[in-house]
Amino acid sequence: MQRMVHHAESMAEILGVSVNPGKVVGNDCMKHTLKQYFGYETFRPLQEEIIGRVMDGKDCVVLMPTGGGKSLCFQLPAIMSDGIALAISPLISLMKDQVDALQANGIAADFINSTVPPDEARHILRRAQSGELKILYIAPERLPVPGFEDFLRTLCISLIAIDEAHCISEWGHDFRPDYRNLQSLREKFPRIPIIALTATATEKVRADIVKQLDLNEPRVFISSFNRPNLSYSAIPKKDSLQTIRALLGKHKGESAIIYCFSRNDTEKIAAQLAQYGFKTATYHAGLTADVRRHNQERFIRDEIDIMVATIAFGMGIDKPDVRLVIHHSLPKSIEGYYQETGRAGRDGLPAECVLLFSYADTFKQKFFIDQIEDVAEQKNVREKLDEVLRYGNLSTCRRRFLLRYFNEGYDATACGNCDICKPALKAVVIEGVPGAHTRQSSQRASRGAPSAEPLDYDMALFEALRHLRTQEATALQVPPYVVFGDKTLREMATYFPQSDAALLQITGVGERKCAQFGKKFLDVIRRYAQQHHIKEKVRPSGTALTASPMPAKPIYTGSTYDGTKRMLMQKISIEEIAKRRGLTLGTIVAHIETIIAADPQTDISHLHPPQDRFDTIAATFAKTGGTALAPVRHILGDGYSYDELRLVRVFMNLR
Ligand code: ADP
Ligand code: MG
Ligand code: ZN
Repeated sequence: MQRMVHHAESMAEILGVSVNPGKVVGNDCMKHTLKQYFGYETFRPLQEEIIGRVMDGKDCVVLMPTGGGKSLCFQLPAIMSDGIALAISPLISLMKDQVDALQANGIAADFINSTVPPDEARHILRRAQSGELKILYIAPERLPVPGFEDFLRTLCISLIAIDEAHCISEWGHDFRPDYRNLQSLREKFPRIPIIALTATATEKVRADIVKQLDLNEPRVFISSFNRPNLSYSAIPKKDSLQTIRALLGKHKGESAIIYCFSRNDTEKIAAQLAQYGFKTATYHAGLTADVRRHNQERFIRDEIDIMVATIAFGMGIDKPDVRLVIHHSLPKSIEGYYQETGRAGRDGLPAECVLLFSYADTFKQKFFIDQIEDVAEQKNVREKLDEVLRYGNLSTCRRRFLLRYFNEGYDATACGNCDICKPALKAVVIEGVPGAHTRQSSQRASRGAPSAEPLDYDMALFEALRHLRTQEATALQVPPYVVFGDKTLREMATYFPQSDAALLQITGVGERKCAQFGKKFLDVIRRYAQQHHIKEKVRPSGTALTASPMPAKPIYTGSTYDGTKRMLMQKISIEEIAKRRGLTLGTIVAHIETIIAADPQTDISHLHPPQDRFDTIAATFAKTGGTALAPVRHILGDGYSYDELRLVRVFMNLR
């Protein structure tokens, strides 16, 4: 069992958190602070304006989609201001994860909620009073606790951030009565800026937030709700298990969520997938709170890849690297669908959202709707479902439909990243064949997102870095993404930084993480670069991986793969294919991985390594408990190339 109670001291000790208490910094320092603490080079849309507003001491409301980067809008001003920022958040698990992430960046943060034992809470409050903490997360139910408000008055509060602010509104989908405790904040702390943040876009909720919080001439910042890195598709629900397997096969070793209608479906599908060797867990209201928490932790810590869940799952997680969200049954509304799919690809890297669509499910939903007694309510629910059906039946761009649903004008008629705009996506998946990743056409879906070339990163090095990340995260008892995100590792495996200075150029590497993890990661990179005679590459500044869509894996577009596939069918050896095509062995092996993922029937038997070598490698994969290359190579040594290991892995997957 993972530790459930947060031990602030131990975490702070491990990470050596120190503080630079209160220093007013000018706006020109914003970018510097962003890089220094978070390791990011540029702001996402609106972040800079919002931060400026908060630094001016004024109220604001921030509407951004999930993954838009809301947290930074209050975390950065908190660091740059004198005093301590209060962050109010409804979800205990989120508080802990955010505090872990802040501490890993060297920012003195902590939280107080019902899971913190009284002794420890007292200690945290003392640290808040002494000016040591920059950000204190609190649960809304803490505010009316006798004495707590008096305590708050003893602090020098720089700003109050209200995360998931829609929880204050009964018009929203997630009203929390405890959030009503926030109504008196403006009156009690008249001079402290309040920043309310939410991903819920409806006008009614927005107006309600402003009213309930009694915000003072608030500026409302609304960013685009487009998530260009998410691809959308709807597939007829035939032989759904095979479709799911194909989709998961394409995202091997990556995090996925499968949303199901009922607890039964959830358990059934998880069990079926487990039989095929997938690492799954379930989450639904039928499980005890302990089991739910445990399963969620395992997902966040990458101990399992696939969460099979009802929609009860998801609110409490900020996991940035979910690469696939499948809806096994119809969502109840487009709002719900957008929110559930929004949990994919928070890190801005490509992710897929797939709806399995069937009329049988429609009847199931309609049956439930017929049971609703309140006529108005019944009509409302039916209308919501009708919109979902429209979405499933679309013959025009799905992104356009979604954005228009949320009243966002979307000028382009084709986004290039949904199954309608990119029919190849649909065709390939329908046949139950994975591997259909779309390459973004020249026309970009994002508005104002900086362009980025897809990075052709070194997958073997990426695997080695991932392995190191897991080790470090386990030792610190934090989720792996807290150490470094996938984006950061992919950049490392692209530019091969070999010095602290070069490492600091990588996105997501701030000063604290460079000091704490730099040596170990540089060691792995240096060793790998030496072995493969790779030189450090200069990372062009300002071209950090961005929100624009990029293929997460090799793209099966036909062209380059077809050449390799034709030669495979002629039983030509890998070496010969590489020679004829003027490509490296590694590239050809990568082609084979993609081709086999797309079509497992492709005959590659002539490439099978000698049986004794195959057995040795397969046994070592089994021993190291997975698919990662680096640990296997570490054990077997130089006598086995990464290419051979990868090839064996392909054959193992076919069995
Ligand atoms: P939200 O709360 O809006 O859902 P988060 O605050 O959790 O989004 O941010 C989503 C992800 O984007 C996080 O992994 C965060 O570190 C990252 N992020 C935020 N701002 C930036 C930025 N300026 N550059 C790069 N990554 C960013
Ligand atoms: Mg958030
Ligand atoms: Zn489209």
